Amino acid sequence: MVRSTAFAHPTHLRVHQYLGLNPGPRLIVLGAVHGNETCGTQALQGLIEALDQGRLTLLRGQLTLVPIANPLAYARHAREGERNLNRKLVPPAIPQDFEDRIARVLCPLLQAHEVLLDLHSFHTAGAPFVMVGPHDNQGALEPFAHAEAETALAAALGPRLVVEGWLETYAHGVARRRAHPVTTAQAAPDPQFGVGTTEYMRACGGYGVTLECGQHDDPQAPAVARRAVLRTLRLLGMVAEVPQEAADTEAAGAGAVAPVLHTVMCLFDVIDCAHAGDHFSREWASFDPVRAGEVLGYRDGGRPVVAETDGWIVFPNPRAQVGQEWFYLARASARRL
Ligand SMILES: [Zn+2]
Repeated sequence: MVRSTAFAHPTHLRVHQYLGLNPGPRLIVLGAVHGNETCGTQALQGLIEALDQGRLTLLRGQLTLVPIANPLAYARHAREGERNLNRKLVPPAIPQDFEDRIARVLCPLLQAHEVLLDLHSFHTAGAPFVMVGPHDNQGALEPFAHAEAETALAAALGPRLVVEGWLETYAHGVARRRAHPVTTAQAAPDPQFGVGTTEYMRACGGYGVTLECGQHDDPQAPAVARRAVLRTLRLLGMVAEVPQEAADTEAAGAGAVAPVLHTVMCLFDVIDCAHAGDHFSREWASFDPVRAGEVLGYRDGGRPVVAETDGWIVFPNPRAQVGQEWFYLARASARRL
């Protein structure tokens, strides 16, 4: 396909919307919030074809598909255009960059829906996982009343690994940075920086999950994404499939959902890199189990950094810059799927 230079300077967001003639849930699905995470884009393009060709029928409700949520990052095949769209996601009165301009059209779109499925992929090898929000609460940070529905959605998608506690842990890290800044950039951090698509959705009274479908270029990732969208549509009673499509999705593992034994991890701490000399004790992969007392790394000067409880190390970044997140810690959650 010949790409005009307009792709390098996107001026619109492409949205595909199917308005059912019967009332029902309002679901929005996003791909490529990070521009180099294209499994969702591929899956949504396939589903648009299936809907347009009548292999899938919308029974009720509103289905909105955004295959490329960040067109600048997508055109650059990069995570970000001018900044990370999935941080500090708010519609600003005076946009400062490309992602602010996207937020001004994407945020009202999110607000007009009840349920969000946000499709991502990740950098290093590993199994797909789902990120969910908090338990029902009336706290100041992320008040929420749809934990049951959100948990049911997470359980239906396919992956067995579910992670909770993101915004709370992010805010905990912000509070620690405020108290003990290691760089001037950390002196005025903002918990709002932890607000991405799902957090924005919950703040608007809806619910939603982030599905990390696999490594960026894993050939299975688009199938994981497609399966998850179909399972979401089925869970919400929004689609009927013609037999051929059902057979195809069955073959792809999207059929009758076999019972999955889920592992639910709760993020509870984030450890920043404090010095260029900080280093891990070994090469960690995300979700490697750790035991209480185990040495995870060493601070510059040799002081060990030790796991305080049994759990898992999450999102370890051996190339973290000083003041950036070095790794997160998770422990088993009480949530049952
Ligand atoms: Zn992502």
